[in-house]
Formats: sequence, C-alpha cells, structure tokens
Amino acid sequence: MPGHHDATLVVASIVIAVFTAYALLALAARVTAAHGRMRLAWLLGGSVAVGLGLWSMHFVGMLALEAGVPMAYSVPTVLLSALVPILASALALYVVSREHAGNRTVVLFALPMGLAIAGMHVVGMMALRIPATISYAKALLFAAIGIAVGASAAALWLSIRYRRDDSERGRRVQLVAAPVMGFAIAGMHYTAMAAAHFTPLRGQMRVAPEAVLRTDGLAWGVAVATLLLLALAVFGSVVDRRSRARTAETEALRRSEDRFRSLVLATAQIVWSTDAEGQVAQPQPEWETFTGADFDDYRGWKWLGCLHPDDRDRAAAEWRAALESRTMCEVEYRLRRHDGEYRTMSTRSVPVLEPGGRVREWVGAATDITEHEKEERATAFLAEAGRVFSSSLEYETTLRAVARLAVPELADWCAVDLLVEGAGLRRVAVEHQDPAKVDFVLRLEERYPSVPGGEHGLHRVIRTGQPDMMADIPAALVDAAARDDEHRALIRQLGLRSYIVVPLVAREKTLGAITLVHAESGRRYDERDLRLARELAGRAAVAIDNARLYHETEEARAQLEQQAAELQEAQAEQEMAHDELQRANEELLQRTQEAERARAAADEANAAKSAFLATMSHELRTPLNAIAGYAQLLEMGIHGEVNDTQCEYLDKIRRNQTHLLGLINDVLNFAKIEAGQVQYDIGDVPLDESLAAVEALIEPQVSARRHHYTYRRGDPRVQVRADRDRMEQIVLNLLSNAVKFTSPGGRIVMEWEADERQVRVRVRDTGRGIPQEKLPAIFEPFVQVDPALTRSSEGTGLGLAISRDLARAMKGDLTVESREGVGSTFVLTLPRARDLPASAREPEQQEQRVA
Ligand code: ADP
Repeated sequence: MPGHHDATLVVASIVIAVFTAYALLALAARVTAAHGRMRLAWLLGGSVAVGLGLWSMHFVGMLALEAGVPMAYSVPTVLLSALVPILASALALYVVSREHAGNRTVVLFALPMGLAIAGMHVVGMMALRIPATISYAKALLFAAIGIAVGASAAALWLSIRYRRDDSERGRRVQLVAAPVMGFAIAGMHYTAMAAAHFTPLRGQMRVAPEAVLRTDGLAWGVAVATLLLLALAVFGSVVDRRSRARTAETEALRRSEDRFRSLVLATAQIVWSTDAEGQVAQPQPEWETFTGADFDDYRGWKWLGCLHPDDRDRAAAEWRAALESRTMCEVEYRLRRHDGEYRTMSTRSVPVLEPGGRVREWVGAATDITEHEKEERATAFLAEAGRVFSSSLEYETTLRAVARLAVPELADWCAVDLLVEGAGLRRVAVEHQDPAKVDFVLRLEERYPSVPGGEHGLHRVIRTGQPDMMADIPAALVDAAARDDEHRALIRQLGLRSYIVVPLVAREKTLGAITLVHAESGRRYDERDLRLARELAGRAAVAIDNARLYHETEEARAQLEQQAAELQEAQAEQEMAHDELQRANEELLQRTQEAERARAAADEANAAKSAFLATMSHELRTPLNAIAGYAQLLEMGIHGEVNDTQCEYLDKIRRNQTHLLGLINDVLNFAKIEAGQVQYDIGDVPLDESLAAVEALIEPQVSARRHHYTYRRGDPRVQVRADRDRMEQIVLNLLSNAVKFTSPGGRIVMEWEADERQVRVRVRDTGRGIPQEKLPAIFEPFVQVDPALTRSSEGTGLGLAISRDLARAMKGDLTVESREGVGSTFVLTLPRARDLPASAREPEQQEQRVA
C-alpha cells in the first residue's frame, strides 16, 4: 500500500525528539542534585515530561503518515502506549541519578530501555485502526530496535557523565548531544515505520466509534502541548540549577571565611580590623576578650591605652608610618591582659586594597609570645650560666658570678648560701643592681642574723632539700619574720614581693641554696620560673660538687705523694739496716766458724788429753801395783819378822797407794766422761729396789761413824729411765759425801718423790754444810771447799763433777741446797719411766724364796 509522510509533522516530531533528549540530560542532573522529596518530585515530573516527549514524538510521527486509507486510533491503546515511555523514563532517571551510577549502569539498562521504546512503538502501532493488514520487514525492524538500544545507551551514558557537570563545556556538550540523540530516536521511529508494510482490506473497517480517535488537527495539538511541557521542564531545571549554584557559592564563601578566621585565630590570640584611616571603628570581640576592655576604651586610637606605657610611643609611630606608606606594619609591644599582666604580643597589620588600589580597610592579628620569649630567655640564661660554671674551679667566685647574672634577668635580689660542715650556713653572694641596697641588706643581716628553723624560705629548704616558692609574699609572713618593730619596718622597706628558694643538691647531698626574690619590679614567680631556678641550682650544684671533688682529689694526691716520699725514705733506711744486718751476719758467721774451729781444736786437745790420761793412768797403775805387791810381801814377813813401827809404815804405804790408785781411777773416769767416751745402758730401773741396794754398800761407813741413817722408801712400782750402774754410782757418791762431811752421830736421810715426769732423790745431812759463795763451784772438777780438811778424807774433788755430768747425760740433773753449819741437801733428778705392773713384785718374791 503506497503512502507518504506529512513533512511538517515529521520535522515537528524530530524537534520534539531533540527537545526530549535535551530535557532528559537536564532533568537527570536535577534529580541527581536534589534530595528527599525534591528528588522524588523531580523524578516524577521529569519522567512524565521525558516519557510524554518520547511518546509525543512517536505519536506525531505516526500522524504524519498518510496511507491513503482512513486511519483511526484506539484511545485506550494510545494511552497505554504513553505509559510505557513514562515508566521507562522514570527508570532511566532513577538509575542515572544514583550515587554509584556508571558504565555498569549503562550496560545493564541500555537494552531494557531500548526494548521499552521499541515496545512503545509496537503498542502505538497496535492502537492504529486501519482497513489494512500490517506486516514488517524483519531487517529494518531489527535495525530500529538496535537504534533504540544504541540511543538509550548514549542517553544513559551522557546523563551519567554530565549529571554533575555545571560547567559551560558540559552544557555545550549537552547542547550538541541532544540533537544527535533526538535524531537517533526519530531515526528509530522512521526506520520502524519503513519496516511496516500495509495491505488494504476489502470491506469496511470495523471500529467502535467511541473508541476511535479522530486524527484531524490532533498532531499539532499534541506537538505544541508536548513542546510546552518540555520547555517548562527545561526552564524549571535551569532555574533550579542556578539557584542551587548560588546557594553553593554562598556556602563555600562562608566556609572559606570561617576557615580563614580559624586559621588566623589558631596562630594569633587577637584578630582585628580598622577603617581605611587606621581607626578602630567597630567592636573587636577578640580584643575585648583578651584585654577585658570595652569598645569605648579602645575605639579610634584609644587602643594605645591598653599597651605598656613604655611601648605606646613606639607602637603609635610604627602604626602611623604603616598607614602612610600603606605597607604591612609589624610591631611587638606589651599588652595589658584582663588580669592586669602585661603580655608581649607580636602584631602584624596589612592593608586590604580595593581593585582600584585604594585602601578599603586594615586587618591585623596579634600573637602572645610571652611564653616563647621567656623560654628563649631561659635557654639563653642557662647557656650563659653553664659557660660561667665551666669557666673556673673556684666555685665561690663562680657562684657570685651566677648571682650577678641572675640579677635582674631572673630576680631583683639573688643570694647564694653554702652549707659549711659543722658551721651552718655561709652566705657567699648577695646581689642587687643597686650596691647601696646590697649594703643595706648586709647590715640588716649583721644586726639581725637569721636563725635556723622557720616554716618558709632558706632554712626550710636546707632542712628538707625541697625547693620553696611563694608567688605572693603575704604581709603577715614579713611581720612574723621580724624580731621587733624596727626590724619589721626595715624589711618592709625592701618591698619583697615574691620569692623562690632552690636547694643546691648534688649526689643526694644538700650543699646550700640559691634564693631569688622579686621586689620593686613587681614581678611574680610562677612554675616556669621555679623550673628554671631548679635547673640553674642543679647545674650550680654539679659545678660545686665537681670543684670540691677536684680539690679533694688534689689534696689526696698531694698526701699520696708525701706518703710515697716517706715510704721511699723508710725504704732507704731499711736497706741500710739490711746492709748492717748482713754485715753483722757475716761477722757472726765468721765468729761461729772461728768458734767451731776453736771447739775442734779443743776436741782435738781433749782427745789428746784423754789419750794422755789413759796412757798415764795405765803407766801409773803398774808401778802402784808393784808397790802394793812388795809392801804386802814385807808385811807377810817373807824376809824376816816386821816390827810394829815397820808394820805401821807399811800400812801407810798401802793406804797412800790405794788413795793414789782411786785418784787415778777418778781422773781416768772424768776424762772419759768429758771426752764422751762413756757408754750408757739406759733402761727402766725400779727406783726403790735400786736405792735399797746402794744402802747396803754404804752401811759399814755409816755404822763406823755412828750416824743416824734413814731411808724413806716409796712406791716400789715407780721406775726411772736411767743406766742403773751410773745412777747407783751417783747416789753412792752423795751418801759417801754426807757420811764424810757430817760429824759422827749426825743425821743422814735418803728419800725420794715422783711426779708425772720426773723423780727426785734427796740425800740430806746435818753436816757442816757449804758456804753460800762456794755452792756453784763444788760441781767443778778438783774443787774442794776445804782441801786441808778433805785431804785426810781422801777426796779428789772430782766426785760431784762426775756425778752431775752422769746425771745430765741421762737427761736428769744434780743440784744442791746448803747452809753452813746446818747441813746440805743434794737432789738428783731423773726422768720417770712407766710404772711396773701391780703384780710385778710377785715373781721377785718367788725368786727370793727359790734363793
Ligand atoms: P771430795 O769429796 O772427793 O773432796 P767431791 O766432789 O765429792 O770431792 O766434793 C767436793 C767438795 O764439796 C768436798 O771437798 C766438800 O768440801 C764439799 N762437800 C761435798 N759433799 C758435802 C757434804 N755432804 N757436806 C759438806 N760439804 C760437802
């Protein structure tokens, strides 16, 4: 079936398509920007506008078709075909306005959207009431669907891409994109229409009259209405976009201002502004907060009144100069804070220029640099103090230097006291800028010397080792410290305001204290000053300690050196003594050698003497025996009768011969003993038994002289360690002497006693005794107390000498006690041997019985 399109309506449909496309892009941006209900409103309104735009383009396009047959439309179906694009538009606006919309969204929704638009077309065709059947060329139909999907994809992508782009460029892109998309949509429609083929039916068209839409004049009505609607939507969106942009601008401006204000306030305490002439024309809230001043107190140029009097002129001059030169003004001054304290402020003001270059106003900021300044000065002070400390080891000089340094930087007054062992505190420094005041204080101290004790200040610090600070010295404290009215008046004169006392502590020992006082300057100490003072005291204490240690070390070194010198001297002396000793030793050795040689010579002589004596004795004995033999022959009367006189002579010859023989025997014996030639047969000797045996030998002599003789026997088991024969020889000798030197009728007693180690045998007589001065001599050989007397008794003077030598050779001794005319007691000592067993007597008795 032939047919053609009304050209003007086709153009109208394309225009509608372009508008629709533009409206879609504009509305997508609005939906994205809006929130909450506004968003919903934009979404609904937008989808209706865009949906109707799409439908209208399609419907006008349909109406443009003139098939040459009567054409009518089913109203419900037409309405239905309008619903489809509205829903599709709603979906599209929703998905593109979502936060995370992106290429994924395009991929996901391009196809459904394209199909929806194609669906709208199909439904639209279904509304057509025409006496013909419609068939489609498949290829064109698919091309149309493809165009719909492609156009949808482009629409989605552009909407997402430019939904937040309010820039000129964005809008230009939209302006270009809209016609392209519009043409695409229209292209799809007309491609689809081209795909449709109408075959006329015979007979009448059966259409219910009420359901049929007459098309006369309808197309233009729809076209105009749609364009109006789209124009309205676009206009609305433009208005919304502009108002939003303005709000955002204002907001950004406000934020930026806030930001800058915060920024300035973060570094400065005060921000202010003045008019072009530099007058404070409006209230300055930060200035008020900081200084506590009212607007009237600082308006115009009155703000200078808040400055420290010394700084006003300088600040005003600087400010005037800046106003004149219209350049930045930087000035530091002390500003009175609301609490009355002057704070050092670093300020900076700059002119704000208008585009023409005229100054519109001045703005400024001030930063409180008091703390910073203090910190810097403290650091500088400590550095300087450190330099002073390390400059000398004379710490008192150093401390005075530091006290000078502290005034007036750290204090109006500075004093240093040192603790002297056993003597309390000694003030080593008092400093003030005014020497007259120092004098005043020294005199005051002299008159009223400070006394230990007290709850505050120096003495407390010395006592506790803890610092003491008083920011404001109360008047009551001064009054309490005063001794009398005059003292009080004098202290008050000093005007002490605030003080710090810090101990000088090194190695946990308090060495003294530093006192810092503020007076006429009106300054007050705070925690920072206390920290600084402690730091200073710490360094000072270390310096003192080091210096003292150094001096101590020096002293110790000197002492050591002295000791070393002394030691050296002593060593030299010792060496000398040693040399002398060695010389003496050598001498001694020499003498010993000499003595040894002498002894050897003596031994030799002794041996010669013994040999001589032995030979001589032997030679003498032979003629003596001959004398005895011949005398006996004469006595026997072999050569004739012997008369009495002859007999008496012969007896004398024989007695002298016997005496001579005894003498010779004694001499021989003694010589043997002296020469060490006697053999001793040492054994355990029962003492009692042995002494009893000697008794028998002496018996005849005792009875001849009618002496009273007694032997006091002892324990028969006691034994001595001795040569029995020699022991008996000694005892016999002692008894013979007792008999010899005791007048007839005298008393002779023999007795003994034993202790653990020794046995003492005593022979006592009541004889004539021995004179005291002769006692030591009687043991010497050939010594007789009274030779004339003894000669008759046939003594030789060897008996006691032999006896003592024998006793000593048997580890015993022989001693004597005697008084002339009273008697003598000789004591023989011998070592004791083991006792005989108790039954030892029995075999002896048996033996006697056998005998
Ligand atoms: P002698 O008896 O052969 O003279 P002694 O050596 O035995 O030599 O004695 C030395 C001297 O000691 C004696 O001459 C005597 O003078 C004195 N003497 C010794 N025993 C006694 C005694 N019991 N009483 C007094 N004098 C004594």
